[in-house]
Amino acid sequence: MSDHPMSRDRVHRTCDVAIIGGGPSGLAAAMELKRLGAGRVVVLEREAQAGGIPRHCGHPPFGLLSHKRLMTGPSFARLIVREALDAGVEILPRATVMGLHPGGKVDVSHPDGSFTMQARRVLMATGVRETPRSARLVSGTRALGILNTGALQGMVYLKNLAPFRRPLIVGSELVSLTAVFTCRRAGIRPVAMIEPSARPIMPWQLHQVVRALGVPLRLKTQIDSILGHGRVEAVRLRVADGSTLEMACDGVLFTGRFTPESSLARSSHLSIDAGTGGPLSDQFGRCSDPAFFATGNLLRPVEHHEWCWREGKSAARWILQDMNGELPEGETLRLRVSAPIRFCMPQLLVRGAQGGMGQVQLRVAQPVRGRLCASDGENLLWARNVRAMPEQRILIPTAPLLKARRGGDILIRFA
Ligand SMILES: Cc1cc2nc3c(=O)[nH]c(=O)nc-3n(C[C@H](O)[C@H](O)[C@H](O)COP(=O)(O)OP(=O)(O)OC[C@H]3O[C@@H](n4cnc5c(N)ncnc54)[C@H](O)[C@@H]3O)c2cc1C
Repeated sequence: MSDHPMSRDRVHRTCDVAIIGGGPSGLAAAMELKRLGAGRVVVLEREAQAGGIPRHCGHPPFGLLSHKRLMTGPSFARLIVREALDAGVEILPRATVMGLHPGGKVDVSHPDGSFTMQARRVLMATGVRETPRSARLVSGTRALGILNTGALQGMVYLKNLAPFRRPLIVGSELVSLTAVFTCRRAGIRPVAMIEPSARPIMPWQLHQVVRALGVPLRLKTQIDSILGHGRVEAVRLRVADGSTLEMACDGVLFTGRFTPESSLARSSHLSIDAGTGGPLSDQFGRCSDPAFFATGNLLRPVEHHEWCWREGKSAARWILQDMNGELPEGETLRLRVSAPIRFCMPQLLVRGAQGGMGQVQLRVAQPVRGRLCASDGENLLWARNVRAMPEQRILIPTAPLLKARRGGDILIRFA
């Protein structure tokens, strides 16, 4: 039996705001809601401890902007959990939300038994995850030693385990660099890092750090298949000219290619945005059922913890406004993007509304340089010259877009 008071006392099945996910965005929102006097705020967290992804990021820097302190991920996670509890937030660990229902009802699975919680508003803050091997369609054997960065960090920082000694790292995003740091911490020496594009996704200067740490980067190289019985023995790589080569290694670490942890929202009545993979939302984080809001990395892949922390605090203010009947409603404009833009967030704007997200966030699928324009079919609302790499944040101010003509979609594209 859990010793948490809420697990013993089953009468508490209603609350003002239920928050799904106790990572930086969910806890920031919870604390801000308490500070603003939102009433009973319950965080439902599936892990045994709240804190989210930073719990297993054993490296700095965490908390520099939010707390003006330099911390590792686990120290930051512990601090924000303590702050939330001190603020009067109720955190229910080992509580996995399994279903969402219209009007703010959620099904919760807990070791002490399942229950339903009815909230005036629900804030979803379930974060992102990396794309696993299965979804990358990499063929070969089902050998031991195939992981994502998150799983490796959990093993190294939370359990003091080293699952391999000489892995191949697939991907060259920022998280791939943290994967190298994690490997070093456990005495693991990656054989190489591979990247299908002609340039690393992480900034070039950071790639020099990877190189300085003794990990060669092979560009224009893809993983074709994994070889080995029992555990990984080698990988077959496909290089730019179409030829293949074998590389000996004892593990494969799939890094990045983040996707929102939206399985809950997908299996519910809520609308999903095909671009982000997260719930469709307006500039207040409000979803297709107005009892539900979303925040943090669930909204889009992927931002760092400080950004998500700020988003959580903002979401709290909009939820409170909504509970007080003060959140703008009215005609909704639909934002659409065309390739090479991968997605925009939010995807809906309440026309002419004050407040909310001050910027629309975009990502591109390939390196681009050109004039980025937003128009409503008749009028050019905003334009700027942009040069960007994949995974680099592009921001468009919301204010000019709110002046779009009635009934028109807003198209964002490179001219
Ligand atoms: C492997 C990895 C490494 C990263 N490294 C860094 C880094 O070094 N620095 C950095 O700034 N950012 C990093 N990030 C980005 C990270 O997503 C953000 O830093 C930040 O944690 C996002 O906060 P969040 O609250 O949106 O989500 P999260 O921190 O992911 O928190 C989501 C929480 O929701 C819970 N949850 C999910 N589904 C359910 C459910 N159905 N019911 C109940 N609870 C649920 C999860 O257990 C989790 O605690 C990394 C991300 C990943 C995946």
